[in-house]
Amino acid sequence: MKFYSTNNKKLVTTLREAVLQGLASDNGLYMPEQIPVLPKEFFESIHELDIKQIALAVARPFTEADVPEEDFHRIVERTLQFDAPLVPVTEGISALELFHGPTMAFKDFGARFMSQLLGYFSSQINREIVILVATSGDTGSAVANGFLGVDGIRVMVLYPSGKVSEIQEKQFTTLGRNITALEIDGTFDDCQRLVKTAFLDQELRDKYFLTSANSINIARLIPQSFYYFSAYARRPRRDKDVVFSVPSGNFGNLTAGLFAKRMGLPVSKFVASTNVNDVVPEYLQRGVLTPRPSIHTLSNAMDVGNPSNFARMMDLYQNDVNAVRAEIAGYSFTDSETTDIMRKMSDETGYVLDPHGAVGYLGLKKYLEESGSDSNAIFLATAHPAKFKDVVERALGKEIPLPDTLAEFVKGVKKSVPVSKEYEEFKTSLKQLL
Ligand SMILES: *Cc1c(COP(=O)(O)O)cnc(C)c1O
Repeated sequence: MKFYSTNNKKLVTTLREAVLQGLASDNGLYMPEQIPVLPKEFFESIHELDIKQIALAVARPFTEADVPEEDFHRIVERTLQFDAPLVPVTEGISALELFHGPTMAFKDFGARFMSQLLGYFSSQINREIVILVATSGDTGSAVANGFLGVDGIRVMVLYPSGKVSEIQEKQFTTLGRNITALEIDGTFDDCQRLVKTAFLDQELRDKYFLTSANSINIARLIPQSFYYFSAYARRPRRDKDVVFSVPSGNFGNLTAGLFAKRMGLPVSKFVASTNVNDVVPEYLQRGVLTPRPSIHTLSNAMDVGNPSNFARMMDLYQNDVNAVRAEIAGYSFTDSETTDIMRKMSDETGYVLDPHGAVGYLGLKKYLEESGSDSNAIFLATAHPAKFKDVVERALGKEIPLPDTLAEFVKGVKKSVPVSKEYEEFKTSLKQLL
């Protein structure tokens, strides 16, 4: 399988190059040349398969030209050391819980698969790969934990000093080994600027194999389609298809669902559920995307005003808004609607939603009311509520327990290197550390 750039279908490359480069040289996003339809027998017996077996079948067409069978098995085995259970929440509605990985958020799926693939490719190119990642919190922890202990890879996490929560900070400053945390005396924007400048710095590029673990990387998208299949396999009513509501920011998660549908998964509708950063629901209404600066909300991992994967969605639908509307509905919700449903859900059912999953639930409810659909109704629960402990406790008016995985991080000892936000000083520190 080859991959082309969303800016130019003639710019094609291998999986290896697409993963190593991240973004195409013309700044487009990589797309698979074909999305193969899986055979009927696969769907007929899918309920007998676990998520690893599903992953092997789903991802194989994308990887077989670049990764031998045995190595690919190992990559899937190491990626999926946790499950994605489908949990009934209310009458007819289930949560697809994507927070049982090491950092308790769905980004673990993408980060782990990508780290394994990059580790494999680094051994082929015989060079150490240096990953520079700027984080305002969650991406850094998923990437750092995903790459922890992967041979041939060094990870440098840049984060703004004093501007991430304690638990987020602990998730990437306590790991050691091949992970180094650079504590920048500036803002998240400073961290991003330093990373961008470093990528353009020819001296650094000659010396190190630099790459980003950015969410636009195709290696983060492919594994996010696995759990749509496994949710379908476990749907409560086998005679019905499924509707998925996806709490969205950059729309990587939803785009992976669209891939699954193109591969033959019987999905009656996707619901694009957003907070007030609603450029995609607005696009569905008006037919034009109007990017805007993002607005801060309680579901802050979805505070995106110009979704990076929109280019992939447009590529899939060839810019035809009516084709998009046929498969995707979109709704947006305010913070107060979000916290209201969190409290109501907890009071009435005991189920605790995180702010992102809550937006997904609200979108699903609204879609079911408007459409009268009787598909199996599933929303993606993208983070464990304890990751957003303060917000959740304020919404519920009571304390929630910290799960062991997160409590372990809190016990760890923070180790970071204080680094200046001035580029030349940053560069000197970086060279000393590498
Ligand atoms: C990143 C993130 C999202 C948004 O996912 P996209 O793929 O960017 O749309 C939703 N919820 C949580 C908890 C996240 O971390």
